[in-house]
Amino acid sequence: MLKRNNAFLAGAWLALSACANIAAPVDPAAVAAAAIVSGKLTEAARIEGDVAYLADDAREGREAGTRGYESAAHYVAARFAAIGLEPAGDDGWFQQVPLRAATPVLEAAAVSITDAGGETTTLTHLDDFRVFPSLDAASFDINAPAVFVGFGVYAPDAGHDDYEGLDLNGKIAVYFQGAPDFFDSEQRAHFGSGGAKSKEAAARGAIGTISLMNSERQQRTPWERFIANPSRISMTWVSPDGRADISGPGIRGSAVLHPDKAEMLFEGAARTYSEMLAEADEEGVAPSGFDLAVTVSMAGAISRRDVTSPNIAGVISGADPVLKHEYVVLTAHLDHTGVNQRLVDEGKDGLHNGAMDNALGVATMLEVANQLTQGEPPARSIIVLAVTAEEKGLLGADYFAHFPTVAKENIVANVNLDMPVMLHSFNDIVAFGAEHSSLGPIADAAVAAAGLKLSPDPFPQLGVFTRSDHYRFVEQGVPAVYLFPGFGNGGEEKFNQFMAEHYHKPSDDLSLPILYDDAARFADVNYRIALAIAQSPVRPFWNEGDFFGDLFAGE
Ligand SMILES: [Zn+2]
Repeated sequence: MLKRNNAFLAGAWLALSACANIAAPVDPAAVAAAAIVSGKLTEAARIEGDVAYLADDAREGREAGTRGYESAAHYVAARFAAIGLEPAGDDGWFQQVPLRAATPVLEAAAVSITDAGGETTTLTHLDDFRVFPSLDAASFDINAPAVFVGFGVYAPDAGHDDYEGLDLNGKIAVYFQGAPDFFDSEQRAHFGSGGAKSKEAAARGAIGTISLMNSERQQRTPWERFIANPSRISMTWVSPDGRADISGPGIRGSAVLHPDKAEMLFEGAARTYSEMLAEADEEGVAPSGFDLAVTVSMAGAISRRDVTSPNIAGVISGADPVLKHEYVVLTAHLDHTGVNQRLVDEGKDGLHNGAMDNALGVATMLEVANQLTQGEPPARSIIVLAVTAEEKGLLGADYFAHFPTVAKENIVANVNLDMPVMLHSFNDIVAFGAEHSSLGPIADAAVAAAGLKLSPDPFPQLGVFTRSDHYRFVEQGVPAVYLFPGFGNGGEEKFNQFMAEHYHKPSDDLSLPILYDDAARFADVNYRIALAIAQSPVRPFWNEGDFFGDLFAGE
């Protein structure tokens, strides 16, 4: 919803960046609002009060690095204090995350394709392509031969190498998004992630990438939706030594091509785009790579700005003299996607309030924290962490996982909450990642004790395990689960409807009929799981031979 003056919103980013590196003063309004919600209320009313504050228009969509996010951060810190947590940031409640923000310069985006006969076709930005410059440089402009590399996956343990026999040095890698379907869903999500793919392309000397959508992707992300917010700011974090974290150093820019234009890349090559698309779509098949006959010019530019945005961290100290030095980290991202200026300019509601994504997840985590402070403290310590910049690539969680405020080796588990779609009265729970570690049986028992059942991943094709903050802990070797209300009792239909109509749209706002009594039940299940992990006599461990355990925690 948008009730504010547009010029005010447009100025928010500028106003913020001027003071972004100064420790933010306490926001008295946020503290006062937090005090009201911390008063004597039912669980459901507390969750509703938190969501109402965090998803209010005044938070301006809580984009990382904006003042809307800052006021949400102060609110969460005040709630942490009221709940009785101890500060666990490196600056009181806050861990400031240094971020490099890049705004695309839309006029600079260009792609043209020259065929073997020397004929050049210039494509139209947004109609035909989008470019994503590396955050390493202010602009890029490359011209190079293109090489088709199938899905661009390198999985030596599975005997799969899409780069075998191909020379990518100084060239542009062209690949289908995602990974072949013969990998199990989570490995598929890992190998198919943009980060993993640009890392592999960069390691072979490629200077640019072009990604294509197979039919499933085209359906999942219609082009119109893909280009809906072209000025969206992208970000990465900056390490204490001042270097920006880039997954594919050497890749100067990437482009995504409209499916109707993909054929041009294959002109004059050994095989056609239609053949490759058919293979990419076919079950159990992955297209093999070959040199293309075209050269591609790609250009783009960004305006860069360094800002900071805080994670908010509180801790419940463990009671056991030994286990208290081990930490279970609960996470929920506080940021959302901010303002879509294009919609605002068109006089439409361009404010992404993110009520479900993820005001509700943060509110649920706050209620879990509240319950954890009511009884005897658990054996292990529990860190409650609201993270920034999830929507920019899981950055706040990644920064904490790299530079935690406690000894890294003492972080034993992560439990994550992200967008618990609460539009049905759930009767089952999903714990993404449960099958990988000892956290699975712990969650299973805790869910059963609440009179519910733990269901398997309802949408394996989405690779959810790699798509939210918990995965940044997994990449540091920490077992994790991501909890979600199950699909039983009409949940599947409600979830699909939410994804189609409201996900990452301005309508994910307070007008959604969120079921707060069920949100309170969900918080209770989360509390039981978190407590069970913190009480478990054995440190959480990866299952023997687990793919992620071997990959990230292997000796
Ligand atoms: Zn989210």
